[in-house]
Amino acid sequence: MRVLAKPVARLVEELSRLPGIGPKTASRLTFYLLRAPKEQAQALSQAIGELQEKIVTCEICYNITEASPCPICRNEERDRSLLCVVEEPLDVIAIERTGYKGLYHVLGGVISPMEGIGPENLKIAQLLRRLESEPVKEVILATNPSLEGESTAMYIRRLLSSSPVKVTRIAHGLPVGGDLEYADQVTLTRALEGRREM
Ligand SMILES: [Zn+2]
Repeated sequence: MRVLAKPVARLVEELSRLPGIGPKTASRLTFYLLRAPKEQAQALSQAIGELQEKIVTCEICYNITEASPCPICRNEERDRSLLCVVEEPLDVIAIERTGYKGLYHVLGGVISPMEGIGPENLKIAQLLRRLESEPVKEVILATNPSLEGESTAMYIRRLLSSSPVKVTRIAHGLPVGGDLEYADQVTLTRALEGRREM
């Protein structure tokens, strides 16, 4: 016996699949939208629809962008000798807040044997190719201070051991196990300034 009308049940189910949203919140959001002005629900649905249609991955740094190459890669004023390696696009936003003026490379995650993610699933080979063709002098490993983030940094460090490029790791002071994305600006600026050669 179906208690909820099909469209309601469907939205509850779709929303429940989002991170941080349990069935209770999903129901609350669904019933909110049911009573909300039609325009609001339509604007939301349109924004979701456009999300994947209009967003592409930058062919150089693998950040998300409306046009590839992204504005950061295209910007002639960025310091091309600095390359900051991060896990996810949200980390780029966090590091941008510190006033960093170099370029980025987005790995698309971290090495995690538990989740079946190996180096081949990340943009690591692409990173090595960039270092061959771009005038990078320093690679800043800014993966999260988590177990996976640290081991991914170590893995890349080892790969670059014979490369002339300087490899640094952002300093601690960031909470261990924490997310770069949630670090406050002061902590992250200090972590970046205090980076050490690996
Ligand atoms: Zn880019």
